Amino acid sequence: MNSTAVIAIHGGAGTILRTSLSPEAEAQYHEALRDILLAGQRVLADGGGALDAVAEAVRLLEDCPLFNAGHGAVLTADGTHELDASIMDGRTLEAGAVCCVKRVRNPVLAARRVLECSEHVLFAGEGAEAFAVAQGLELVESAYFHTDTRYRQWQLAREQQRAMLDHDGATLAAKAQPRGAASVAREAPLPHEPIDPNRKFGTVGAVALDTHGHLAAATSTGGITNKRIGRVGDSPLIGAGCYADDATCAVSTTGSGEMFIRMVAAYDVAAQIAYRGVSLEDAAADVVMNRLPRIDGRGGLIAVDTKGNVTLPFNTEGMYRGFAHVGAAPVTAIYR
Ligand code: ASP
Repeated sequence: MNSTAVIAIHGGAGTILRTSLSPEAEAQYHEALRDILLAGQRVLADGGGALDAVAEAVRLLEDCPLFNAGHGAVLTADGTHELDASIMDGRTLEAGAVCCVKRVRNPVLAARRVLECSEHVLFAGEGAEAFAVAQGLELVESAYFHTDTRYRQWQLAREQQRAMLDHDGATLAAKAQPRGAASVAREAPLPHEPIDPNRKFGTVGAVALDTHGHLAAATSTGGITNKRIGRVGDSPLIGAGCYADDATCAVSTTGSGEMFIRMVAAYDVAAQIAYRGVSLEDAAADVVMNRLPRIDGRGGLIAVDTKGNVTLPFNTEGMYRGFAHVGAAPVTAIYR
């Protein structure tokens, strides 16, 4: 038995402004992170596998409206939701993922079914939903994913895009009208707006080391606000947004997905440990602080290794994050 068992989670990185997050909102985030860490910690304390712990933690993060995954996911340019998720088992290197799903309540559970019940790794769109249905997973109406906060972020992102990219603003605005766009489009950002909508980041993830010495990672997201239909980021891509190998580490990322894909960010942490023999902390710091910034990659990651080391680096102003060793109180943080 391994007493260094630990779970770490993130709820997205970005321009999380100390000044705009009220003490009440801040407390809400800490409480949500803490509760979810406690749930994951319980799985590990009961002898559950790392895969069970990360799936449960990410399921709870998806259900929590504060975070950009599942209920509370951001909106696409068409005002819809397209969700991505992935999961990987460090024991066997088996992995599962889904992308562009619109009705699966918990995309991470669909990703896990792909891992456990199919010979494939990634299902997209309608095929992913058909697979989820065949697996008996819960589907929901798209309204389930909606929150007013994300809707306002979407409105702001659209306004900004119209100004910056000179898009066809009239068409965009007209499309938004039926959902009450005119009344909310001119609103200032909410005083408790957690993440600067100009930065648009947010995703959830978990990594864990279980009492048997095995690692796992999972990541889930709504993507980036106002993304084009069909756009897929790093989160469902094994090696970019999620990676786990008992020989090195487990990693879940959050940030500007395109850059994380180009840097194969999650796998790079593992590869640096394997090929350069560096520590978990040094490998993760190199990816987040040196390599990603070379191509303007913004965000962060969480990682654990089989010794129970945990690292949570980010190059943005903040990242919702926390970790909990079995038998110890959870630690949560938002800012630097
Ligand atoms: N990495 C995610 C994506 O690009 C977004 C995020 O982490 O906020 O879809």
